[in-house]
Amino acid sequence: MLACDFRQIEREAQRALAAGADWLHLDVMDGAFVDNISFGPDICAAIRRSVPQDAFLDAHLMINAPDHYLPRFLKAGMNLISIHVEREGSVDLHATLSAIRAGGAMAGLVINPATPVERAWPYLEQLDLALVMSVVPGFGGQSFMTEVLGKVKQLHAERARRGLRFLIQMDGGIGQTQAPLCREAGADCLVAGSSTFKAADMAQAILSMK
Ligand code: ZN
Repeated sequence: MLACDFRQIEREAQRALAAGADWLHLDVMDGAFVDNISFGPDICAAIRRSVPQDAFLDAHLMINAPDHYLPRFLKAGMNLISIHVEREGSVDLHATLSAIRAGGAMAGLVINPATPVERAWPYLEQLDLALVMSVVPGFGGQSFMTEVLGKVKQLHAERARRGLRFLIQMDGGIGQTQAPLCREAGADCLVAGSSTFKAADMAQAILSMK
């Protein structure tokens, strides 16, 4: 949703679903964890009210205090809430991931391009989803970093080795050129902003990625 036309966010959410998007991905930024400010729980709740009840809302929290704000995102009706592994040490990630599930949502953990994938290893058993960032988070419209595909392969192998079932997601700079590379590396779901919302034909853009 970061790439949508914010003047008409309700219509944009509905347009993405009508065009074949399986989920809506909401990029929450606090101006501290990343160098940008997007929107918070009130806008997430407004998007929730804009779409059918069975629409799946995926909130990606690029914020310093996901533990503190978690209850507000749960209340906003998010189906999946992902937090960054880089907050390890400042935030009790084990407790926050547990609290996400206890609140009735799926729990996700995000790994930035500069972060070794092994930082996620202690948390894998608690995850419904692991998100490998393919750009440095903060802004839409960046170029895909091919080098992160190795991390997706490592996650895919580690998931199989431990017999786990979490989904592997990728986010950043993904369009129809990158989608097959992501899939080959082992990604299950792809976040696409600019390549869908700014496409001449959004339905065609989503279909070609699928
Ligand atoms: Zn995101």
